[in-house]
Amino acid sequence: MKPLLHEIARQRPLLADGAMGTQLMLAGLEQGNCGEEWNLSHPERVLAIQRQYVDAGSDCLLTNTFGASRIMLNRHGNADQVVEINKAGVQIAREALNGRSGFVIGDMGPFGGLMEPYGDFAVADVAAAFREQARALVEAGVDAIIIETQTSLEELTLAIMAASDAGAACIIGSMAYDVTLDGSTFRTMMGVDPERAAEVMEECGAHIAALNCGTGMDMKRACTAVARYRNVTTMPLMAQPNAGQPKLVNMKVVYDEAPESMAAGVKPLLEAGANIIGSCCGSTPAHIRAFRQQLDDVIGK
Ligand SMILES: [Zn+2]
Repeated sequence: MKPLLHEIARQRPLLADGAMGTQLMLAGLEQGNCGEEWNLSHPERVLAIQRQYVDAGSDCLLTNTFGASRIMLNRHGNADQVVEINKAGVQIAREALNGRSGFVIGDMGPFGGLMEPYGDFAVADVAAAFREQARALVEAGVDAIIIETQTSLEELTLAIMAASDAGAACIIGSMAYDVTLDGSTFRTMMGVDPERAAEVMEECGAHIAALNCGTGMDMKRACTAVARYRNVTTMPLMAQPNAGQPKLVNMKVVYDEAPESMAAGVKPLLEAGANIIGSCCGSTPAHIRAFRQQLDDVIGK
């Protein structure tokens, strides 16, 4: 049997990958279009991005399926292709690893709305959409599922349960924190702090607690979040901060933290207790390559 991601992560630090969305845009995806559909229409472009991450030293690849739940795909008229898009996403990531001993992590993002009674979506429909996506990812052979960019405990719980029901071998819960206006702390948009998130993840049967994306969450803040997780849980921890703050330049969103400056935060993150490090929006293969050097330094390669 293949070793489990959360067990290997306890033995040595692992490197995840960098951004997919911003890389797809560089490859020609237009803002607002369905990047996940490219798994079917432009698999070679998705593969090229993931190959670059593997070449840069990633141990783990996240599938290009962040928005591939039925509810998200429905916004682009692709709801009849949930299974195909998720399966293709897993196949492309596996191909990018090209036989190397890496992990394919099935990516599940938020469903993109609010559940009743605050919004229009019935809890049962959201749960069914997560179950359908998780099942497709597990059947396609993922090594783990990451439930990313989460802000609400209710949605996080539904998605973890869905991954668990689908039989995922390893489940990662990943929250998006925003630094508060006065800069004193951070919590998710729905007011969740790391201690409570870790508690809920553990109760629901997740194996790894993580953070990704968010607002104002630079490498230093990510360290604080990891340390706060570490205070309350023995689960392996994962961090994928953005490459700096988004800035609007010529009506385009750009992220401008350079690979070297970001990579300087890798060792502190490991010291704070992180076991898997990657990066979210705006990061590139160059960022991941710079992270790899830091990690190898620590591992003693
Ligand atoms: Zn992000």
